[in-house]
Amino acid sequence: MKKIFPECVVRILEDYHANGISSQDCVCCSSPCCGMPGFALLENVVLIYNFYKKGKLRRKDFTFKHGLAFRDFVDTYFDIWEWSEKNGKNAILFFHPKIVSACNDLISIPGDNDYYAMRAQLFEFNPWMSKGCVFLSEKITNWPQGDTKPRHCILHSKHSSKQIGPKPIDCVFHTCILPKMQKLPEPEVVDKWFSALARAFPGSVRRYNKYIDM
Ligand code: SF4
Ligand code: SF4
Repeated sequence: MKKIFPECVVRILEDYHANGISSQDCVCCSSPCCGMPGFALLENVVLIYNFYKKGKLRRKDFTFKHGLAFRDFVDTYFDIWEWSEKNGKNAILFFHPKIVSACNDLISIPGDNDYYAMRAQLFEFNPWMSKGCVFLSEKITNWPQGDTKPRHCILHSKHSSKQIGPKPIDCVFHTCILPKMQKLPEPEVVDKWFSALARAFPGSVRRYNKYIDM
């Protein structure tokens, strides 16, 4: 049985999603939001890797490499970023899915400072580079304006908004005010979200190191 989201996470999701779009809006959408992916927790990544090992990670315009060990899988498809509270406590690892280019290269965000600032700057000056997240069903044409073709997250399930599954938790958090009109959280909401995740899913740095040492 998969782990239901902890109460503090559910509260933040409910508050943040209030008066927003419905899941049906996303089903009909071409997913321009997936040009800059949210992050997965270690819990998501372990399930994505299980999905991969069962041969279920498939999309028609990109082939996932076969036979990768857990560490190589993570290095290939994610950028890892460590976050902690201002007092240095409650560190947590965020795993950002990489972005696919027009020629199927995987784009990694350089450096280890502010992941978001670095990524925003890279794509602000080079929007042609992003054809969307590696876990999107097919490439986005003409990002960030996008197109009208429906596409979807290959990690999505009907349980994604309630329990830890393969779909990255920060993608579950992300929403729109109206379809395709993305909601940008205020810095204090971002801090509250990160902090709640760090407390609800503790020890990911230690747990990840244990996984890759196996
Ligand atoms: S852009 Fe908005 S409406 Fe479209 S898939 Fe993303 S969250 Fe849903
Ligand atoms: S993991 Fe899924 S929802 Fe998140 S950015 Fe990638 S395709 Fe979109």
